[in-house]
Amino acid sequence: MNKDFIIDEQIEKLLACAIAPDKSRVLEIIAKAEKLKGLTPEETAVLLQTEDEELIEIISHTARKIKEAIYGNRLVIFAPLYIANLCANNCLYCGFRRDNKELQRVALSMEQIANEVRVLEREGHKRLLMLCGEHPTRSSLDYFMEAIETAYAVKTEHGGEIRRINVEVAPLEVEEFKRLKKTGIGTYVLFQETYHHATYKTMHPSGPKKDFAWRLTAMHRAQEGGINDVGIGALFGLYDYKFEVLGLLTHALQLEKDCGIGPHTISIPRLEPAFNAPAAIKPPHPVSDHDFKKLVAIIRLAVPYTGMILSTRETAAIRREVFELGVSQISAGSRTNPGGYQQDSSEAFRAAQFNLGDTRTPDEVIMDISTHGHIPSFCTACYRLGRTGKDFMELAKPGLIQKFCQTNALFTFKEYLMDYASPATRKIGEKLINQTVEDKFKPRMKKSILTRLQSIEEGKRDVYI
Ligand code: SAM
Ligand code: SF4
Repeated sequence: MNKDFIIDEQIEKLLACAIAPDKSRVLEIIAKAEKLKGLTPEETAVLLQTEDEELIEIISHTARKIKEAIYGNRLVIFAPLYIANLCANNCLYCGFRRDNKELQRVALSMEQIANEVRVLEREGHKRLLMLCGEHPTRSSLDYFMEAIETAYAVKTEHGGEIRRINVEVAPLEVEEFKRLKKTGIGTYVLFQETYHHATYKTMHPSGPKKDFAWRLTAMHRAQEGGINDVGIGALFGLYDYKFEVLGLLTHALQLEKDCGIGPHTISIPRLEPAFNAPAAIKPPHPVSDHDFKKLVAIIRLAVPYTGMILSTRETAAIRREVFELGVSQISAGSRTNPGGYQQDSSEAFRAAQFNLGDTRTPDEVIMDISTHGHIPSFCTACYRLGRTGKDFMELAKPGLIQKFCQTNALFTFKEYLMDYASPATRKIGEKLINQTVEDKFKPRMKKSILTRLQSIEEGKRDVYI
């Protein structure tokens, strides 16, 4: 599959027809979304064109309700692992771009990768997102696959291990996706960056990434290659955010139509300043915090069952606000320079992809989110038990996945508190676990959860249902 299915004029028309919508129409659409039915592009365009603050508040309120109904109060935690920053592309927004001659170029050796993973495991991480630049020899598929195997093989004290590696690599052929799948990856993630053709062309002046359609159809090929958890995303700030949200939705619907299953996740990165990257230093369509919160809420209403990922590009304050609106996965303690987890950060910008908005340690992030009532989850049970793709969606849609996710989140959080947390985080975390068990579960379930929590207290690890 290599056929472009994004028609710019259609998206522009949807937005033009929805300008200044009737209040009654907006309320009707919100009521439909509240039933967790998702929205059509036409309905989503109406919400995007809503500028009335009172209505935007109702949209946000509904997003909070949907997030609570489907995902509860948990937030899945992961760390990105950059293994190489050599790149044949020239994306105008990225510090890794080929023409950035001042960037220190690095392709980590397998030993260096293992050392990075050791640091991450000792911080308590169980999930990674592995990524690199696009380079035919220095970050080839063979190199990447060896890096995955290396990372999975690293074991540290307290049963420290990486249990799920999601990957973000340049688009592949179906046969290559089949090979990649064999390494036991979780989700295949790739951002279209912008769904607007003219902007895409300007932002990607040279290199293999120039080909819009090849990138757009990567998720179709991944599914054809047997990878049934795929994650899409747009880089907000390159073009009008309203257009990008409709692009994401069109992509999700096309996947559902052609492959029988939509994306597992949607990522919502916003442009950050980057070393020698002109479009990142002066974003062509900056997205304000107000609009960012609005777009997160609208995505939550439009595709309620798709996880939403927020990275450390955003500041702690913005992250706190958008967690409530529908984000289900977050990175913590990230470095965007290969080798960055073992280095002190003062020289990091010389090899980094972009600057970070949230530079706190994982423990600080975890303490903060627990204080705000979110359960950090390190759970990888669905993936390990084969609850992926369609099987996952069949459980997610009637709300059954909650039963597994909420309990497994508690068990993995408890393990984190026992093995990796600072005393202050542990105190807050224990209180939150007790309160969640008390408030959210019926007596029989409560008893079985408390027994398992006790077994973790006594030294048992990797407890999940
Ligand atoms: N090189 C591969 C690619 O481009 O798909 C792998 C992923 S790249 C290392 C990760 C992502 O970082 C890109 O898809 C892009 O959306 C994002 N990114 C690049 N520059 C950025 C910036 N200045 N601010 C925020 N995100 C950026
Ligand atoms: Fe290379 Fe990816 Fe950066 Fe583009 S976004 S320059 S492809 S690393």
